[in-house]
Amino acid sequence: MGEFDLIARYFQRPRPQGDYVALGIGDDCALLAPRAGTQLAISSDMLVEGRHFLSTVSPEALGHKALAVNLSDLAACGAKPLAFTLALSLPRVDEAWLEGFSRGLFALAHAHGCALVGGDTTQGPLNICITVFGEVPVVAGKSQALLRSGAQAGDDIYVSGTVGHARLALEVFRGNVQISEELFAQARLRMERPTPRVALGTALRGVATAAIDVSDGLLGDLGHILKASGCGAEIAIDSVAAPAIFHWANDGFDIEFCREMSAAGGDDYELVFTAPPSARDAVAQAASHSATPVTHIGQITAERALVLRDADGSLVANTFSSFDHFKTA
Ligand code: ADP
Ligand code: MG
Repeated sequence: MGEFDLIARYFQRPRPQGDYVALGIGDDCALLAPRAGTQLAISSDMLVEGRHFLSTVSPEALGHKALAVNLSDLAACGAKPLAFTLALSLPRVDEAWLEGFSRGLFALAHAHGCALVGGDTTQGPLNICITVFGEVPVVAGKSQALLRSGAQAGDDIYVSGTVGHARLALEVFRGNVQISEELFAQARLRMERPTPRVALGTALRGVATAAIDVSDGLLGDLGHILKASGCGAEIAIDSVAAPAIFHWANDGFDIEFCREMSAAGGDDYELVFTAPPSARDAVAQAASHSATPVTHIGQITAERALVLRDADGSLVANTFSSFDHFKTA
């Protein structure tokens, strides 16, 4: 099978979704027609074998995850997904792999009404790069995009869903811990098939003051908000780890381990966001409207420090470090 047959067979769909797609796959460029009164939100994420995924992962899960991590960036900006491109480097034409990969990819794309409008296909080491295009309204001349820079002293800090499972699954794959089959199934699902919090992100427009998605680790990613906003935070570390502490107890994990997985583990693709106390009802509404649980985990402070406290209010040392591709040991 040649390059063009491969694209036609696995990636070209009869009619791209959405009237903003003026032209999809097949020409030198795709053409998007953003609606009046909106901005385009654009983000790229690359997945490299051995770095971002294990060679044993199913192609279907990989198709899902490759798009999910990109949709998660749109969610963190409060953008609604419109379209995406796919640049794919493949060692060989493996039809079973392509079939599974495109199935996982399109299942998530359809669920979000996000059309594949173009890309590039080459031979080489397995490498997947997706660029997503999303829509953010502009209201009274002001972009409704959620940025990292808007947090204010006194704001509440929240995290969606649960964090820690993806990192736990990685530790199991690395052979560092052993857990029950039931917990492993849950953890693996979070690692391989993350849920991008798109509905929550768009519901938080005009409510949240700042947001980011958790890809490298909760405290590290929160640190990006603090730096961009010029403030600090006080975090109730065990409110972050609470689901893990509660659910993993049967597997014999102590509180320190649960904190480490939840506060430092990445790959969960939950949203961390801030909102003033006056917006508590609006946050609760956004959570219920999007059917996404959110947990209050702390407060933004004027002093530029990240302070962690346990359930008794005692200080906890911040020994939790996030993932960094270029960090030397
Ligand atoms: P060009 O050489 O002009 O860049 P290509 O021959 O690479 O175009 O691709 C032909 C068409 O197929 C283009 O519209 C391109 O966007 C699309 N395309 C190529 N690879 C992919 C892919 N993996 N997924 C979706 N569309 C693709
Ligand atoms: Mg090309």
